This record gives sequence, C-alpha cells and structure tokens, in this order.
Amino acid sequence: MNKNLKIWVWLALTFSAMSCSQQNQTRESITPVDSLLSEQQLPQSDTLIGILQSGENITILIDRICGDKINANEAAAAFSTVFQPEYCRQGESLLVVLDQDEVLSLIYIKKADQIFQVTRKDTTWFADTLFQPVDYVPVVIAGTICNNTPSLWESILYSGGSDELAGTFCNLLECQVDFTFSSRDGDSFCVVYFKKYIQGEYIGRTLLLKGIYQGRLSSGDAYLYPSDEFSHFSSDGQSALRKFLSSPVSYTRISSGFSQSRFHPILGYNRAHRGVDYSAPTGTPVSAIANGTVILAGRLGEPGIAVRIKHSDGFESEYYHLSRIADGITVGKRVEQGQIIGYVGSTGLSTGPHLHFGIKINGNHVDPVPVLARSSGEPVPEEEKQLFQGSLRFYQLLEKTSLELSALELQRQSIINIW
Ligand SMILES: [Zn+2]
Repeated sequence: MNKNLKIWVWLALTFSAMSCSQQNQTRESITPVDSLLSEQQLPQSDTLIGILQSGENITILIDRICGDKINANEAAAAFSTVFQPEYCRQGESLLVVLDQDEVLSLIYIKKADQIFQVTRKDTTWFADTLFQPVDYVPVVIAGTICNNTPSLWESILYSGGSDELAGTFCNLLECQVDFTFSSRDGDSFCVVYFKKYIQGEYIGRTLLLKGIYQGRLSSGDAYLYPSDEFSHFSSDGQSALRKFLSSPVSYTRISSGFSQSRFHPILGYNRAHRGVDYSAPTGTPVSAIANGTVILAGRLGEPGIAVRIKHSDGFESEYYHLSRIADGITVGKRVEQGQIIGYVGSTGLSTGPHLHFGIKINGNHVDPVPVLARSSGEPVPEEEKQLFQGSLRFYQLLEKTSLELSALELQRQSIINIW
C-alpha cells in the first residue's frame, strides 16, 4: 500500500471510530476531510468518505457517495468477490478515490485488518484485499490458584487475563480437565498468545498458542499446530478437543465387532453383540473415554467385573470382563478422560482376556467404533510428529523470552522508581 493510501485508510478508520462513538445520528454522511489534513499530506487525487448507516447496504452506500459517476451495482458486485457484503455493519467506511470527477477506486474498510479495494480499468472492476502490516506481541498469562484467587477464573483475571480469555482457556482444556470438580489450591496454569496491533492500535489476539493446566488431581495441555487446519493438540500429539479417546485401551486387535446377531462362542447360538471386543493382555490399563460419573463398579454375571460411566449429552460407556477395578473407582465418583478405571481381564462370560466396550446414546447401544472415530479428532500425522515437537520447543522459547522481557521491564521500572 502506498504511503498516501495508508494515511487515508488510517484517517478513515479514525473517522469511522469517531463517528461510531458519536451519539448524534444526524451527522453529515459525506465529509470533506481535506481540512483535517495538512497540505503536504494530501494525495494528488480527491477523496470522499462515506460511513455505512443503519438500513444501508454497500450498494446504497456507493450510490449515495458516488451518485451517477459509476454503476453502484457493478462496483458492489466486484466487492462481493473478496468479502461478503451481507456482513457489512453500520459505521464501516467507504473511501472513494477520484481523479478530476472520475472514480478511480473504492476502498471499503471493515476493520484495520479487513480492507478491500475495487479499481476500475476501462469498464471492468478488479477487486483486491489490502493488507496492513500487523505487529504481533507475545503475551504470557500464568498463575496459581490460591487463597486470594480461589477459582481458576479469578486467577486468570488476577494474572491479567480477561473473561473471554478465561472462557477460551477452559473450553480448550475441558476434555482433559474437569474444572468444575478438580481445581484445587496450588494448581497452576499458563496461557501464551499474541496480541495483534496495526499502527499501534490493538485489533485483537491470535488463537491461543499454548494452554497448560497442572493440577493436583488433573492436568492437561494444548498447543496450536497447523495440521490440516490450525487446531490444538496435546503434547502427545492427540487432538486437544477430542470428546472421546480414540479407544479405551491399547489393544492388539478388535476380536469382535458390534452386531445385531453373531454366533456366541460360549453359548453356541446367535445373539446380538452390543459392543466391541478389544484383544489385550490381562492387566492392560483401561481408561475412561471421557469425563463422567461412575454409575456402576462391581461384579455382574455375564459382564464379569464391570464399570459403567455416565457422560454428558446422553452418552454412557461400558467396560466389561475386567480383571480388577482401579483403586478409588466407586459409584458416584467423577472420572476424567484418560483416567485408568480398571484392567483388562477375562471375568464373566468370556473366552480369553479382552475388553468388551459398549456405548449407549440415550439408553440405546450403538456401534462404538464409528462414534469414537468421529469424536476423537485426528491426531498429528505420524510424519509431522517431529515438526510438531519443534513447535512445542518454539512456544517454550517464546514463553521464556516473554517472561524474561517482562521481568526486565519490571526491574527497569523499579530502578526508575528508586531514582
Ligand atoms: Zn463383547
């Protein structure tokens, strides 16, 4: 973007911000801004600014500002190739660049980082997105839950975060950490992200680069990584936003799938198999597929030693034929995704060590395999694992540097204060 244009865009933004804050709705909609600029800053061409008013769309705005100088429909159609005009909002501004009385180009400014231009060449309009350089400033918000700040939310606010940041952080880790039940005194958290500025004006923040919660009862972590698209992964490369684990046990093979009618090897006749059998050696740990509450933990007939867990949204999971139930897993107990609830065995009606795993939705059994596949999120691809580990190191470095810089700044301030 050339310098003159930059100035005009900045001016339009400032003007738009000023007019948005004005209560008086009867303001002049076409403003000669020349008087606001000193002589040497004026571009060669003339410029008009219009602000989108309530009830207007971009076509009406163009028509109002340009009159019969151009065909407003054609210019608006060109804009619609680079953004969606139906999302235009009152207070956004249009800049019209004129040479003599001829319209050279139109610039539509939604925000400091969303600027679009259409330029006329002969009778055709060409559309562009204009980019302004964005400054990224790393921010680290870290703290500990303690007496002064007894909840995670308060701790984040106390450490300089906002309500919005606290909400995003909790959403990011809610699959791994049950914040309602597991937050304890002494638990610590850390969030890293960038604040974005254009010419010194704060325009928002990036996605969280890193979120970590280290607790006495429960911990979780999530790192931003551009796999297919930007999403968050735990340090082990699993999707941080998984609703369910991809499987409750590390298994050698699926020995029997979900079926409405299969031949039962012990009973010797056909009947439904309402779950999936994962073959695994006796003693292999079995994990809860998601946060939930234990609704059964004990010995039954056919299922043998069994655990059932109730999850949100009408989901239940069943873990049968265990050799034993993990310590502390009793009815009514809250469990978290990944928590070990028991160990593979062959109790009940079973021919050998395996985990029978079932899922119910609103009381009805469904095939667990596609449900888990759909809800567990894709992990970081195997061939990108090294790159992913590299990005974790980068975030660590960023955090360290940023903390050191703020420590230096504090030191500088205290020296200034002493003097
Ligand atoms: Zn089974």
